[in-house]
Amino acid sequence: MEMPAPDQGVIARRGEIAAALRRIVPGEGVILSEPERRAYESDGLTAYRQPPLVIVLPSTVAEVAAVLRYCKQEGIKVVPRGAGTSLSGGALPLADGVLLGMAKFNRILDIDYDNRCAVVQPGVTNLGISHAVEGAGFYYAPDPSSQIACSIGGNVAENSGGVHCLKYGLTTNNLLGLELVTMDGEVVRLGGKHLDAEGYDLIGILTGSEGLLGVVTEVTVRILKKPPTARALLIGFGSVEDGGNCVAAIIAAGIIPGGMEMMDKPAIHAAEDFVGAGYPRDVEALLIVELDGPEAEVDYLIAKVEAIARDNRASSVRISQNEAERLAFWAGRKAAFPAVGRISPDYYCMDGTIPRARLAEVLTRISELSKEHGLAVANVFHAGDGNLHPLILYDANKSGEIERAEAFGTDILKLCVKVGGVLTGEHGVGVEKRDLMGTMFDETDLAHQERLKCAFDPDGLLNPGKVFPQLHRCAELGRLHVHRGQLPHPDLPRF
Ligand SMILES: Cc1cc2nc3c(=O)[nH]c(=O)nc-3n(C[C@H](O)[C@H](O)[C@H](O)COP(=O)(O)OP(=O)(O)OC[C@H]3O[C@@H](n4cnc5c(N)ncnc54)[C@H](O)[C@@H]3O)c2cc1C
Repeated sequence: MEMPAPDQGVIARRGEIAAALRRIVPGEGVILSEPERRAYESDGLTAYRQPPLVIVLPSTVAEVAAVLRYCKQEGIKVVPRGAGTSLSGGALPLADGVLLGMAKFNRILDIDYDNRCAVVQPGVTNLGISHAVEGAGFYYAPDPSSQIACSIGGNVAENSGGVHCLKYGLTTNNLLGLELVTMDGEVVRLGGKHLDAEGYDLIGILTGSEGLLGVVTEVTVRILKKPPTARALLIGFGSVEDGGNCVAAIIAAGIIPGGMEMMDKPAIHAAEDFVGAGYPRDVEALLIVELDGPEAEVDYLIAKVEAIARDNRASSVRISQNEAERLAFWAGRKAAFPAVGRISPDYYCMDGTIPRARLAEVLTRISELSKEHGLAVANVFHAGDGNLHPLILYDANKSGEIERAEAFGTDILKLCVKVGGVLTGEHGVGVEKRDLMGTMFDETDLAHQERLKCAFDPDGLLNPGKVFPQLHRCAELGRLHVHRGQLPHPDLPRF
């Protein structure tokens, strides 16, 4: 993965730029020393490291706006950062770019139970929102496994998901309002506490935009009443294929579980060794299905799912008898990433989405690829959404292993696209999948996407080097002549 050559002129001005930023964010809000800059050199995709030019940590919207205005005026690049847990390198710093850390935006501004929403600053952690409202019996539904650490601003930028998203939607389905600052330093407010904002769906455009369109400074999220009952089934299968068929059969029966997650044998063993969740070790695949709602409905659905599981050759079925047992079922799945981290010096977490019906076939091919690349893989996935997370095990200290892990990961993502899926389910494109965008989009598609970027950030200063394989100058795109035959759909207008 190559990044554009850094601008040595900007690097030479590091001290002057830091001094200007200190005038905007006084006190300890600007970090310049080499050891402290190193602390920010990567995000969750630790294979890539680059200390930033300088770090600025504003604590007010006015400071964010002034920082962006200054950088725009001076032609300096800016990388927004939340908690730095991105697994696609979205928050990877640039040698010639200011890292704009949003950690000080950590306050919950308003909890409005009547309108079932909370207004929070972007640095608040995902779990922090649920904690703030749990006393009144509410929660925030999207629950990435990183929820204890990741920020809601990062969730918005990546359109993050989690176990509960099958039934309750991803981040994009749980937002009511956003405040953002554009690269011009303009503060824009979208939506609010009400449903559906008028006009274009700009909140939808901002969600998943990976820090390329604006810096989010306030988020209004929906909060939901906790369901009165939640119970889970732990279902073992003798083959991943049987597990995949069971997932398809549950959905085909019209049941939308609160969560439906699957793990393969290596992941089951790693999780069991780590947290002792009580998982069976003699199965090839383990499915966790959670049903939530009124007690009578949950009892009815549990019986239905159990019958479907038996029809699909389940080798074991356990049903949680109390809350502690339900949480134990989930504990292994939630700890699957760190569990795999214990059995391998390094792992590379992939994120691709496929049509659910292709699950068994794709997992078989991943296991063949594992042999071809000579690297082990453990699979955990949001089975209900068809969102795969193969964890490729490697040792960065062994020569050539990181390159083999990347090549293996590339083959998995190409496979996802080939079977009708997409490059990412929830972790974003970042730098990780940037050079694979061409496997999914043709040049015309990418040019249309870049036009949107240009509408927000014509100088390409906000998080450059991410998402787009090659960012054109906006002026070039303006003149781009697209022939009708090149358009992805004949009804799309000519530019
Ligand atoms: C162990 C582990 C488990 C994970 N599990 C999941 C999971 O289950 N589901 C899932 O979806 N993800 C998961 N992730 C990935 C990651 O946690 C999410 O992508 C998360 O949303 C990133 O949030 P962050 O605050 O760490 O953002 P960062 O990593 O700091 O940034 C991510 C992106 O958001 C942009 N950004 C951050 N803040 C702002 C802002 N205020 N305004 C504009 N842009 C901004 C950055 O520029 C960058 O492009 C996991 C990560 C780890 C390490």
